[in-house]
Amino acid sequence: MAKKKIKKQRKKGKNWRKFWKLGIDEFNTQFFNINKDGNLIVTEGHHVYNLNSLANKYGTPLQVIFPFIIEDRLKDLMGYFQAYMKIYGYKGKFFYHYPMKVNQNKEFILPLLSEGANLEVTSSNELSIVKKVWESDKFNAKIRVFCNGPKTNQYLDLIEELREKDMNIIPIIESSEEMERIIKYKGDVGVRVDLNIKADTHWDKKFDRFGLPEKEILDLSKIKNLKIMHYHLGSQIKTQKSILEGVKHAFTIYEQLQKTHPNLDTIDIGGGFGVPYEKKKFYTAKSVSSKIIKILKNLSDKAGIKHPNLAIEWGQYIVAPAEVTIYKVISKKYIDKANAKAWYIVDGSFINDLKDTWAIHQKWHVIPANNMDCALKRVWLAGSSCDSDDKYTAGGNYLLLPKLSENENQFVAILDTGAYQDGLSSHHCLLSAPMKILAQDGMIQIVRKRESSESIAKLFGWNGDQK
Ligand SMILES: *Cc1c(COP(=O)(O)O)cnc(C)c1O
Repeated sequence: MAKKKIKKQRKKGKNWRKFWKLGIDEFNTQFFNINKDGNLIVTEGHHVYNLNSLANKYGTPLQVIFPFIIEDRLKDLMGYFQAYMKIYGYKGKFFYHYPMKVNQNKEFILPLLSEGANLEVTSSNELSIVKKVWESDKFNAKIRVFCNGPKTNQYLDLIEELREKDMNIIPIIESSEEMERIIKYKGDVGVRVDLNIKADTHWDKKFDRFGLPEKEILDLSKIKNLKIMHYHLGSQIKTQKSILEGVKHAFTIYEQLQKTHPNLDTIDIGGGFGVPYEKKKFYTAKSVSSKIIKILKNLSDKAGIKHPNLAIEWGQYIVAPAEVTIYKVISKKYIDKANAKAWYIVDGSFINDLKDTWAIHQKWHVIPANNMDCALKRVWLAGSSCDSDDKYTAGGNYLLLPKLSENENQFVAILDTGAYQDGLSSHHCLLSAPMKILAQDGMIQIVRKRESSESIAKLFGWNGDQK
């Protein structure tokens, strides 16, 4: 009986793969597909991961990490830059630095290192993770680490300690206060410039506080080890034009700064390359990398200076597509007179697990993990916390998800959740964070168990004796 009911809902013939925007390189869904049972699957070569089966087996909320996606993306990205440097006869070198703040989980960092990523850190705590890995002999001694962010004494001490141990570690001067100490530093240093231009991103604030203003940069008294000029315009830059305008403008500062600092040989253009979360037309890394190299080559040839080395710190671009978050729908409530007909309440929390949903009204690609070929309903999603803002409505519009069946769990998959959400996550209403599993080489490994009531209580000082 139950089977019959589900069968009746099935809508064969429609191109569901296309409908859910799967299998498309430009949307980073090339590894995603639907199987004959209407389940969402991910393929790694000839290995197949069935997300519906994983959700049933391990329970929800669940986050699935795919290291092969990270490796694939980084390999491609480095390949583009290296290829275009060759094609255009560019003499500078290319360096990828992974900005650790985007996702500090070990399961993300290790695959990046295996593909040859250098690192960029923002705090002394991130740097002490790097120190641990370094001391465990897992690093190529040639790896280079950029240190951004405001430098506390503890942070500067650690930078100096690692420099003594022969790490190629480069503090990026962020304020004039840091200058005093960093100027005596025994290795290469960098400086961050607060570019006087607008970029098309949520983070293009009227008053930027990062780095030194252009004028101060150009008036700098000589820093003898100055090797790198860095800038960062913000994350999820909306247009290719904004990225390229940044490069062009930064070059004008670089050119002038180099006159007083002949050791300066590298432009670090920071992060900001976006991800097509909404699965609409977006610029591509292939096209942007080609244009960046062309621009830098033309400008430096015209200025008669050496082609600068190029460092990039595109973090979100590399890691966002490598994690999927899966929730189960636990109840349904009708909505009157709205774009959506019903709330689907899920067993996780947008406010806790996918914080940007709440913080910056991030849009996601939300699709079913099962019943992908069934009749659909216009819905909004709500999280399990008591907060009325714990919801995802696709910006007040609606989502299409399968009509619920009494006989089967309905799982919802949220794609591209690998960037930023973990570091920002929280414990509103003391809900447990999602369990994390790793899908690699056809095998599944639990890497973060589901939090128990005890382990969460401990975070708030409840250590067992209730005194
Ligand atoms: C946040 C940040 C990045 C990474 O930005 P994405 O948008 O994730 O590419 C890189 N560099 C610096 C200095 C940052 O602050």
